Formats: sequence, C-alpha cells, structure tokens
Amino acid sequence: MAPRKFFVGGNWKCNGAGDDVKKIVTVLNDAEAPRAPSQVKGLLRPDFAVAAQNCWVRKGDAFTGEISAEMLVNLQVPWVILGHSERRALLSDQMIQGLKVIACIGETLEQREAGTTMEVVAAQTKAIAEKVSDWTNVMLAYESVWAIGTGKVASPAQAEEVHDGLRKWLNTNVTPAVAESIRIIYGGSVNGANCKELAAQPDLDGFLVGGASLKPEFVDIVKSAT
Ligand code: PGA
Repeated sequence: MAPRKFFVGGNWKCNGAGDDVKKIVTVLNDAEAPRAPSQVKGLLRPDFAVAAQNCWVRKGDAFTGEISAEMLVNLQVPWVILGHSERRALLSDQMIQGLKVIACIGETLEQREAGTTMEVVAAQTKAIAEKVSDWTNVMLAYESVWAIGTGKVASPAQAEEVHDGLRKWLNTNVTPAVAESIRIIYGGSVNGANCKELAAQPDLDGFLVGGASLKPEFVDIVKSAT
C-alpha cells in the first residue's frame, strides 16, 4: 500500500480579506496570478449578479466554516441570502458525495480530564463512519477543543496516543485497509516551533492549522515532514 501522503490544511476561519489574503497567498505562491473569483462568476454574463447563500453574522475572526460579509465583498459577490430555513449544520451522505472531506473530531478539556478522550473521539468517528461508504476522499482531523486557538498544543505523545487509538478503532470497526490508508491529521495550536516534533509521530499524517496559517511560518509547517 502506498504510504500516506502528508497533508497540511490552512484553516483561515473567518479571517482573510483584501490585503491579508494577498500577503499570505504571496508568501505561499511566490507570485500573484489573477483568477476568476468563482466558477459561477467566471462563466456568467456580467449583468447577472451572484448571491451567497449565507454569511457570518459578525466581523471575521476565528469562526471555522463561516464567510464574512467582508470576504464576500472581496470576492465581488454583491448579494447574500440570510436566515434561510433550509440551513442545517448536519453531516449527511449527500454532503460528502463529490467532495473531499476533512472530518473533525476532538474532546473538550472536561472530557480529557475525566479520562474519556478515546471514548469521545471513537463515538464521533462512529457517527462519521455511519455516513461514509467510500473513504478514499475522507481524512480525520483530531482537534482537541482545548487546543484550538488557545496556544495549548497537545504533546506529541498525547497526539500520537489518540491517532494510534483511532487507527485501531478503524481497523476493528471499518476495515484494516481504511485504517492503514486514511490520513489522520492533527489540529490545535500548531505553529512553526512545535510542528516538527508532532510531524515525526508515526500516526500523525499532517496538520490543520488555524492562527499560524495566516503567518509566514505556515510554510515551515507545510515542510515539517521533510
Ligand atoms: P489553531 O486552530 O491552529 O488556531 O489552534 C486550529 C483549527 O481550528 O483548525
């Protein structure tokens, strides 16, 4: 079986508009190339306007999954539909079809202190497994709630213990092939200084990076496994 390819995701959350985007993209890209803001906008006659189907209620910051009004303006999306009754925050098999999915799991501080971390992440993974029939385009991101945006990173040993436990759970409850091939990435206060030691853990296949993905050190994180 092919070795698992190291993956690093930059989670910009609800940050990044205008010059902020330019700065970080320039760092990553080394050259700016003009692109159509979206496929729809790139194809549509200019006298039609595009609307987003939702947007974040406040100014941007650390709100994963949200798009702020500022970001929409930046993408030249002039309209937004707000409060539509069909909006639901549930993972469904339809959502997974045709998409590559980073499915996030992780325990709270109370759960860790109560010694239930493995139980919690196994139950979360079970809920995901019930919706997934093809694991090819799915990866798990282990992100302890207490480590996200707090500067409190899990120790390499703590992370490895959970990643190894997840792989064992998948081995028993899904298939040995999925357990072997799936990427399990770590998220929660990863930065340029702590990434190398984490990346060296055998069951840690990459990172989901929030705050540090907005800074030049993200490049060091991307290269941490090499
Ligand atoms: P952080 O966020 O790196 O800022 O802790 C991680 C995440 O929420 O994915």
